[in-house]
Amino acid sequence: MRKHSKEYLQSLTPYRGYELLVEGNKRFVSNLKSDHDHLEMINETREGQYPFAVVLSCMDSRTSSELVFDQGLGDLFSIRVAGNIVNDDILASIEYAVKYIGSKVLMVLGHTECGAIKSAKQGVEDGHITNLLKRIQPSISKALLSDDKNYQFKDKVAYANVENSLEQILNRSEIITEMFANGQIGIVGGLYNVDNGKVDFFKNLTKREREDKKLVIA
Ligand SMILES: [Zn+2]
Repeated sequence: MRKHSKEYLQSLTPYRGYELLVEGNKRFVSNLKSDHDHLEMINETREGQYPFAVVLSCMDSRTSSELVFDQGLGDLFSIRVAGNIVNDDILASIEYAVKYIGSKVLMVLGHTECGAIKSAKQGVEDGHITNLLKRIQPSISKALLSDDKNYQFKDKVAYANVENSLEQILNRSEIITEMFANGQIGIVGGLYNVDNGKVDFFKNLTKREREDKKLVIA
């Protein structure tokens, strides 16, 4: 079956979609990569697009979803905004991806050393930046309350910020929540480490933690 086809996308389970992201990041970290023949990919995707995942990530130049998951043209919907925050236009884009195109996985990808998070912690106020950073503030408060000793405060904020975006998505979009509840899509959070290229998928949390936080059901 052709990879970029409606049939392929329909045959894919949300869990398999999640695995494709995990496997892609493993290739990226090992410096291996799939054969991304650009001309072939253009030809394959000319008739339409069937991306298996939609990834909301930061605009940071080191965190391109296609690169860190070793994916090619037509494989991912890539939504990027400083601090991987959620707003109405981003919700609309995700709804379009999962409901009208059939993407099977929604991933929110934060990262270490995020400039938006650093600025939010410093209370930067300037132009339109002020409002965007306000969306990160609840994650700073949450991280302050966290007693998880495994992480430094700056990483706790980054994790909390991904969780916050996932919660925002589930609280605000009926379309996504319903598809998630019906098992039509999987939802996963993760943090990209700029030091070593690895994505820490939240699925690595214990089952109990996952259920509590509703981070992944795929
Ligand atoms: Zn960032």
